[in-house]
Amino acid sequence: MHFKIIIVGGGSGGISVAARLLREARHLSGQILILDPSGKHYYQPLWTLVGGGAVRREISEREESSVIPEGAVWFQEAVQLFNPEENKVTTSFGKTISYDYLVVAAGIQIDWHKIKGLKEFIGKDGVCSNYSYDYVNSTWESVRNFKGGNAIFTAPNTVVKCGGAPQKIMYLADDFFRKANVRDKAKVMFFSGGAKIFGVEKYAASLNKVIERKEIETRFKHHLIEIRGSEKIAVFEHLDTKQLIEMPYDMIHVVPPMSSPDFIKSSALANTEGWVDVDPYTLQHNRFSNVFGIGDCAGLPTSKTGAAIRKQAPVVAKNLLSIIRSGAVANKYNGYTSCPLVTGYGRLILAEFDYSNEPSETFPFDQGKERWSMYLLKKELLPIMYWNGMLKGLM
Ligand code: FAD
Repeated sequence: MHFKIIIVGGGSGGISVAARLLREARHLSGQILILDPSGKHYYQPLWTLVGGGAVRREISEREESSVIPEGAVWFQEAVQLFNPEENKVTTSFGKTISYDYLVVAAGIQIDWHKIKGLKEFIGKDGVCSNYSYDYVNSTWESVRNFKGGNAIFTAPNTVVKCGGAPQKIMYLADDFFRKANVRDKAKVMFFSGGAKIFGVEKYAASLNKVIERKEIETRFKHHLIEIRGSEKIAVFEHLDTKQLIEMPYDMIHVVPPMSSPDFIKSSALANTEGWVDVDPYTLQHNRFSNVFGIGDCAGLPTSKTGAAIRKQAPVVAKNLLSIIRSGAVANKYNGYTSCPLVTGYGRLILAEFDYSNEPSETFPFDQGKERWSMYLLKKELLPIMYWNGMLKGLM
C-alpha cells in the first residue's frame, strides 16, 4: 500500500496540516493518509476550565471521523515503527505502508507510571489531574469537595504540554475556595520541578503578584516522586539536594512527567532527547528531507501548545507543497507560542512569545495584566476558532 503523504497523528497538528494541504492542493485528495488509533479528538485547552468546573468536559470531545478533512483517508491504527530509510511505516495491525512524504504529529506521551503509586490512586480520594479526559472530572470533584487542609498543585521537572497549565488550575481552585468560604482553612501550595514560575520575565512578574495576592506557598525544584494514597502523603525530591520531603495532602492536582512517545524515541527520526529531529524554523527533518514534524512531538525549543501549532501548520503545509513542486523550503516558523494564563474565574493573562523568549503580543494593550476580555477569548472564542478555523485549515 502506498500514499503520497502519511500524517502520523490526527490531533491538533495532524488535522491542521491535512486540512491546509487539501485546501491549497485539492489534487492531493485521496493521497493523504492519517494514521491515528483514537476514535475521539480532543480540544485539550478546555480541560483547565473543566477541572475548575467552568465548562463540561463533553464539549472538549468530538468523534475523530468528524474532524478528518474531506479528501483525507483515515486508518484507525497506531504507527509502531518508522523506517525512514525505505519511506515506510508499520502499524499496530502489522500493515506496512510506504509514502513519498511523512508528517509526524503524534503529540506528547504522558508518563503516569513514572510517579510511584499514581496509577493506583489517580482519580480517587483527592488525587486528580487535568492532563487526561478520563481524569479531568476528578479535578472538579476534588476542588468542589475540598473542606480545608493542604491543597497541593504540582509541576514536574520535564517538558510538559502547555507549561502554564499546572498553575492555572491552582488559581481557579483558590478562587473557588474563597467563594466557598474554605480558603481560610486551606494552605494552597505549588510544588514545581522548575526553578521559577514562568520562563518569560514579563509574565513571571505578573504571576508572582498573583501568587502573593492569593497567599500561595511556592516550592521550586521539588519533583513529585510518589503518591501514598492510603496515607494521603505526597513524596517530593529536591532536585539539587536530593532530600526527600513528605507532604500530607487533602487534595493534590498532579501534572505527570511527559516525554516524546516511545515509538518516536526509539526510531531513526529522534534527536538525542527523543523528539522528532526537525529544523526549528522550516520544521523539516534534519536528516530525512521528505519528513516534517509538528506539534508536541517536534524537537522545538518553545513551549508546546495548540497556539504554537496554529503558526506551525501553515509552515509545514507550504514547505511540503514546495518540495513536492521541487521548490525550496522557504517558509519559517519563529517559535511563536501562547499560554492563556487563567488566574481566576473571569481573569486571564495572555502570554504570547517566540524563540527569543520575548513577548510577541497580538492586542494593542498590556497583555501582562489580568483581563476579563482575555478570559472570554479563551472560554468562548478560541474553541470556535479551533473547531471551525484551525482544523479546517483556515487559520
Ligand atoms: P495531540 O493533539 O495530543 O494529538 C496527538 C495525536 O496523535 C492523538 O490523536 C493521538 O491519538 C495520536 N497518536 C499517538 N500515538 C500515535 C501513534 N503511535 N500512531 C498514530 N497516532 C498516534 N494549548 C494551548 O494552545 N492553549 C492552552 O490553553 C492549552 N491548555 C492546555 C491545558 C491542558 C490541561 C492540556 C492537557 C493541554 C493544553 N494545551 C494548550 C496544549 C495543547 O492541547 C497541545 O499542545 C496540542 O493538543 C498538541 O497537539 P498535537 O497534535 O501535537 O498532539
